[in-house]
Amino acid sequence: MPFDLVIHDGLLVTLSDTFQADLGITGGKIAAIGQKLHGEKTINARGLYVLPGAVDPHTHLEMPVGKTKSSDDWFTGTRAAAHGGTTTVIDFVETAPHQSLVDALAARRSLAENRAAIDFAFHMTLSNASRSTLDEIPAMIETGVTSFKVYTTYAGLRLTDSEFLKVLQAVSAHKGLVIVHSENDSIVKYFTQKLLDSGKLAPQYHPLSRPDIAEGEAVARILSLAEAVCAPVYIVHISSAKGAKAVAAAQLRGQNVLGETCTQYLLLTEAEYQRPGFEAAKFVCQPPLRKAEDCAALWAALGTGSIRTIGTDHCPFNFVGQKDMGSERFTEIPGGLPGIESRLALVYSYGVRKGLISLNQWVSLCCTNPAVIFGLYPRKGSLLPGADADIVLFDPKIKKTLSHTMLHENVDYTPYEGFQLQGYPVKTLLRGEVLIDGEKAINVAGKGKYLKCGLPRIRSTP
Ligand SMILES: [Zn+2]
Repeated sequence: MPFDLVIHDGLLVTLSDTFQADLGITGGKIAAIGQKLHGEKTINARGLYVLPGAVDPHTHLEMPVGKTKSSDDWFTGTRAAAHGGTTTVIDFVETAPHQSLVDALAARRSLAENRAAIDFAFHMTLSNASRSTLDEIPAMIETGVTSFKVYTTYAGLRLTDSEFLKVLQAVSAHKGLVIVHSENDSIVKYFTQKLLDSGKLAPQYHPLSRPDIAEGEAVARILSLAEAVCAPVYIVHISSAKGAKAVAAAQLRGQNVLGETCTQYLLLTEAEYQRPGFEAAKFVCQPPLRKAEDCAALWAALGTGSIRTIGTDHCPFNFVGQKDMGSERFTEIPGGLPGIESRLALVYSYGVRKGLISLNQWVSLCCTNPAVIFGLYPRKGSLLPGADADIVLFDPKIKKTLSHTMLHENVDYTPYEGFQLQGYPVKTLLRGEVLIDGEKAINVAGKGKYLKCGLPRIRSTP
């Protein structure tokens, strides 16, 4: 019996190996890896890398923020992701006041169903530690939401240390994973107020309102609290050397700690805030961009495996019409950067090609580890027989200058304008179907399915 589809002669790249083989797909699943496989349809992948579809563990599509919402909706954002080789996103559910977790999940899920181009799963945000909220954790895990996000800052979201302990205990008792936005709220409030009081209202001042020590303190404290109740924890979007160092120290003590960083913290620095006029607003995100030394520390932490995933925290706002809500004062600028489409290519060009990480680490950081940690492996993030045939064909020879005009994100700029790329995805398959062929997206609307996450895998790598 021939396979439905065979990808011939590509260089298969997994977290541990790189080898030339044919890959056979049947019924939307990877059916075999071998030589001279026979397919009803074939794709010639000679000279191309064949990777598992990338998994973005951190996106905010159509996310309400104050009076606006992030500009990519579930269709445009996931289509852009597919163009960049991402076939699964893990986004967030936030509850409205007095809304149950179950209702919030259903509402969020219905926004994505029939619109998303790629598969999607969710983290649940917990903005309180009330009895009724914590009592819903088992039901969430049952429905496939097994990671729970908490914040150390932001009014309405921030948990106190004692609330945080309750959440850690409740989530870990059911074998879920708590994921944390870590910035010290008092430090952020103190510096923000000081800047506002002295009339420093321009976006150039944004990074001074959230110094790296705010992250360093919060990460270290969260890890101590997690240690106190023996619970695992995952720190999202680590931006600084101080944050990375706190994570590595806890790992050395034997603690179950996972770290994530994002493309922007690896490739962009606070120098962007020196741009003239309001341009700096394009780079306003929380935590802010840091110094070149911080980028270097984050690359080093990826190299040693201390930071385990690269996400995007994709949360786009148009420069005209959204970011300019903060033209009078930087605190009103909706925070977040676009990046869902260019992660794989940027990390390849600036990580693998520059020798900071290996080809196999690139695949583990962007594809496999997020799937493993959030309970989607081996269905996602792998090229194993039986896995969903989510595949990226990546041409390491293509040269491009990254520009907003070539991207499909629904936003009027890219923070990576002018970045030089060598290597770009040329085809993206979701469950055996070609979604993206060169520049073309093929019937992508609604192709994505809701994924139930299994229990997180915290210690082991596959
Ligand atoms: Zn985020």
